[in-house]
Amino acid sequence: MSGMNREGRETVGAAIEGAPQTFTGNRALQLDEALIFEIGASDRTGVDLPKADLTGARLGGLERDGAIDLPGLSEPETMRHFTRLSRMNYAIDMGLFPLGSCTMKHNPRLNEKVARLPGFADIHPLQPIPTVQGALELIDELADWLKTLCGMPEVAMSPKAGAHGELCGMLAIRAAHEANGDPRKVVLVPESAHGTNPATAAFCGYEVAPIPATAEGRVDLAALKERLGPDVAGVMITNPNTCGLFERDMIEICAAVHEAGAYVYCDGANFNAIVGKVRPGDLGVDAMHINLHKTFSTPHGGGGPGSGPVVYSERLAPYAPLPFVRKGADGYELVEEEAVAEGRSHGDSFGRMVAFHGQMGMFVRALAYMKSHGADGLAQVAEDAVLNANYVLRRLEDVLSAPFAASGPCMHEALFSDKWMAGTSLSTLDVAKALIDEGYHPMTMYFPLVVEGAMLIEPTETESKADLDQFIGAVRALAEAAKAGETDRFKGAPFYAPLRRLDETQAARKPRLVWSEPDLAEAAE
Ligand SMILES: *Cc1c(COP(=O)(O)O)cnc(C)c1O
Repeated sequence: MSGMNREGRETVGAAIEGAPQTFTGNRALQLDEALIFEIGASDRTGVDLPKADLTGARLGGLERDGAIDLPGLSEPETMRHFTRLSRMNYAIDMGLFPLGSCTMKHNPRLNEKVARLPGFADIHPLQPIPTVQGALELIDELADWLKTLCGMPEVAMSPKAGAHGELCGMLAIRAAHEANGDPRKVVLVPESAHGTNPATAAFCGYEVAPIPATAEGRVDLAALKERLGPDVAGVMITNPNTCGLFERDMIEICAAVHEAGAYVYCDGANFNAIVGKVRPGDLGVDAMHINLHKTFSTPHGGGGPGSGPVVYSERLAPYAPLPFVRKGADGYELVEEEAVAEGRSHGDSFGRMVAFHGQMGMFVRALAYMKSHGADGLAQVAEDAVLNANYVLRRLEDVLSAPFAASGPCMHEALFSDKWMAGTSLSTLDVAKALIDEGYHPMTMYFPLVVEGAMLIEPTETESKADLDQFIGAVRALAEAAKAGETDRFKGAPFYAPLRRLDETQAARKPRLVWSEPDLAEAAE
């Protein structure tokens, strides 16, 4: 297949001044790749099927009369296409992935091996219950680990992501207020919260009221107490928070919220910093989601699949969703009806979150992760994650600006602002783009919103000191280049990526999701 040089398309070879424009658009082993619609053809295929034994059309004249126009490729062409595409992506298996708040940790291969066992991988959610006893036992055992680690009596396993878990938690809070005949209107959300928190509250029909942060990056307890009242249904609070700090007033916050007749939802995305060390139930939390794909290493990136079980306090347990797994006299059962749940949790369930029972493949991986670490190993995960983040913070605070460095050690992520760039005409975005040239996925940018030009770096516990030193060296070199006035290095970055600066606003606002065949006659003019 020649024709890989597609004129008019920005190719890698074009990126560097003085470098030759290669015929193929490839740059050494970095291969350019076209869309499958551009390289495939409907008369090509990778499979050889016997001719269908047609018994006549049964569609009453509605059958297609034109070609279906799917892009066919031979098997080797298919393999190469997708392998080339995969090499354009950055992955945790290639290098450090410092995206803050995302906990991009190594996914142990043992988990993958176990998840591929046919007894887990090949089952169907509609199989008769006696044939999936092992799977139900696994869900129940994972539920037990989550309840134990959180010090909370109930858990809903079905939510499919953190944001979905937020919805699951807030729907239980809403159901509890409705059951008390006291539907309240407002949910309080700290300014530093992840965008999914206010979005969830609004989705549940609540009005969102912001709570300011203190100068040291924590929830302003006095402001929170002042805003509490009979109209407040709950508070959504992240602990450790998105500034990378532990909310030291959490017990007092929870007590005040309960005093006001409201519930505490905790965003548990940052559980990696405290797993095995702190039980959210002991702090007074009523509901919290756990991103299995963050804290418990199940793979993420590229959109999923995630898994976001929600733990509940005693007070919210009756409103938890269906279904849930229960051990009965005849083995494990899946309770799908409220009536069957009588006398215990889920008895006043708000309903279901999803058609089935959750992300089985992620459950298997998460439990494999927990069992291979053990309780002491999980506590060490938190300790090492916090140690690594503090190492990054202390090794970079002299060249970057750490707004909360005086607030004490950070938790599992280090937060910097853009103050150090004052007078350089550069922005956080420019630094992130230059980091791509260094071979790193950028850190989280411009989040949390309470810090100007935020750069949130989360190394996780799975990075070695050597890898952290390499990353720190790259960031230090960039900071020094920025201060030395090497503006072009940043404004033009990335120089070495397959595509240069993309128009991200256009890409988000007007994504081109449908490929249409270019008009060749028009192109030739
Ligand atoms: C990741 C994250 C979420 C959302 O979780 P998803 O699994 O991506 O839906 C919510 N809050 C915080 C702080 C997060 O980091």
